[in-house]
Amino acid sequence: AGYREWEVEKVLTTCPHCATGCQYYLVVKDGKIVDTEAADGPSNHGLLCVKGRSGSFDFVHSPERLTHPLVRNSETGELEQATWDEALDLVASRMGALRDQFGGQALAAFACARSANEDIYMLQKMARTAFKTNNVDNCARVCHGPSVAGLAQTLGSGAMTNPITDIAENAEVIMLVGSNPEEAHPVIGMQLRKAVERGTKLIVVDPRDIGLARKADIHLKLNPGTNVAFANGMARELIHAGLIDQAFIDERSEGFADFAAMVEKYTPEFVAETCGIDARDLVAAAHTYGQAGAAAIVYCLGVTEHTGGTEGVMSLSNLAMITGNFGKPGCGVNPLRGQNNVQGACDMGATPGDFPGYQKQANPEVVARFEQHWGVEIPKWKGTYATDCFPKMISGDIKGLFIFGEDPVRTDPDTAHVIRALKSLDFLVVDDLFLTETAKYADVVLPGRSYAEKEGTFSNTERRVQRIRAAVTIPGETRLDTDIFIDLMNRMGYAQPQLTSAQIMDEIAELTPSFHGISHERLDSAEVAGAGLQWPCKGPDHPGTPIMHVGQFTRGKGAFSLAEYIPAAELPDADYPLMLTTGRVLAQYNACAMTDKTPGLNEISGSSFIEMNCEDAAALGVADGDRVRVSSRRGSIESTAHVSGKTNPGQTWMPFHFQDGNANWLTNAALDRICSTPEYKVCAVRVEKA
Ligand code: SF4
Repeated sequence: AGYREWEVEKVLTTCPHCATGCQYYLVVKDGKIVDTEAADGPSNHGLLCVKGRSGSFDFVHSPERLTHPLVRNSETGELEQATWDEALDLVASRMGALRDQFGGQALAAFACARSANEDIYMLQKMARTAFKTNNVDNCARVCHGPSVAGLAQTLGSGAMTNPITDIAENAEVIMLVGSNPEEAHPVIGMQLRKAVERGTKLIVVDPRDIGLARKADIHLKLNPGTNVAFANGMARELIHAGLIDQAFIDERSEGFADFAAMVEKYTPEFVAETCGIDARDLVAAAHTYGQAGAAAIVYCLGVTEHTGGTEGVMSLSNLAMITGNFGKPGCGVNPLRGQNNVQGACDMGATPGDFPGYQKQANPEVVARFEQHWGVEIPKWKGTYATDCFPKMISGDIKGLFIFGEDPVRTDPDTAHVIRALKSLDFLVVDDLFLTETAKYADVVLPGRSYAEKEGTFSNTERRVQRIRAAVTIPGETRLDTDIFIDLMNRMGYAQPQLTSAQIMDEIAELTPSFHGISHERLDSAEVAGAGLQWPCKGPDHPGTPIMHVGQFTRGKGAFSLAEYIPAAELPDADYPLMLTTGRVLAQYNACAMTDKTPGLNEISGSSFIEMNCEDAAALGVADGDRVRVSSRRGSIESTAHVSGKTNPGQTWMPFHFQDGNANWLTNAALDRICSTPEYKVCAVRVEKA
């Protein structure tokens, strides 16, 4: 990359894209990052994908970075450069006035799941102490909210039960459900592929021919939105075939009899018809999973992003429970979290009902402890999920919104609805690196700092807390996000002393039992030696917890759930005859805010496309590479047809990354019945030749 070893400094840090949490060195020459070099981290073992290798620093130095605060000129309507004092005074006075006139219910704050734990902790503290609101949430609401809600209900803790390396090395069978790790979590994908090549059996449950399906012993190419029927059918077959662990069920769980009775109607024939699969494949999958000494379920957004997402998660938990696949190596139920620190965003209490460490706001003792420590009264009412905030903006119940590092105009379903909601606000503040599509609607835009310009920690998908370190500063007037929040708290009447990132982690550890043993000092020490610490980590001598639920579940006994199959909210019909589902490609990340600043990644994959089955394409006169118009009840876009057999007839698939032909103009904002996560994975569309 055009440097000599003696010219550069190398700073060990954590990748800012997906939640694998790969460790690498930022190579810094003359104050600029010029390269990355893989490190031997606990989840990547010297591996990196193309995003970590080449897409992790161009955006830091991008000329598109915001370098000064912007304030909207009330006369011209344009965003104009302002001083920090002008911008922060305006935010404090307008948000403070809305709070004082309408109460904290009229304000909301969205946390950035790509930022550090310390930033997110301070954001939710600002919301609760200065905004006087529990309307604080993060983008887990649009991805793994059902994992947090579902696994908390069945196990008592909504996170991966086993580490990545443990699964790759010790599982006899891996069942991959609604997850395409070779594109979305590439370094995990590489490790799973190696495991299969060493002899681990693989069951893929996915509506598409993903890369790992070609390596699988069984591929259940089921209809999108039918996961619960599939899992209940698996459970019935396991029970009928005697492939259950009765001793584990008796000792460690509750509710089995009701569960066994409930799944009885999910016969192989019913499931085959509902899911569009061969009944013999379902039976074979059940026997392969049930006969393993250790079988791991690994899943992702194909399970969660449904109106029945939480039920989907709980139905997978049931499978592991009846087979005793908890609390030992190579097993468990493992949600692959999306963004680098979306696990941390939930851990840090950026959700309406939870304080840090999932301490419940509904518990008066928890609230009292935070009130005593923070020295302020905290609102007691139940906050609103982010996805439920949008209708409340339109109705005028929410009037002021602070968005930290999120871009809902690009990422949330039904874009027209999101824009209408943002336009309805009295006051919108965006703290970001770039003038995103969302920031264009803001009254004030605040330039924060990237992962390469700050100290802190990320929590990867394995609950592993790892360090990020400041490597560079960029020209201009960006500020640490924690300093922005602290400054605003003080301007809005809450006396918050200045704290460093390490001091903030000390406060988190003091208030959060599962983080009691975590500090920057310990993470930097020879004892931890770059391995991070996996929570729960209950004290300074506690080694962390790689495998959860050993001997006992977090909630005591594991709970079976009676999750029933309910069809998706919008199915194809005469007007919109095809089903659309969405997902990720390897070379980009989410709304591309960071990855599209690297030209090489755009060359690999730089624009929208729609995968169609050959039969559907032929019927519409569409050839591979043709431009097509894709319409749903909510919007219409142009895209490029990729014609193949990857999806079944009647089904289409689009990546959700691209601004040209953004799939979210089409997706449905129907919400999960329990935790309000949108059903990105199923909606009805019409495709025509453009
Ligand atoms: Fe970064 Fe994820 Fe790629 Fe690792 S797998 S380098 S964490 S994007």
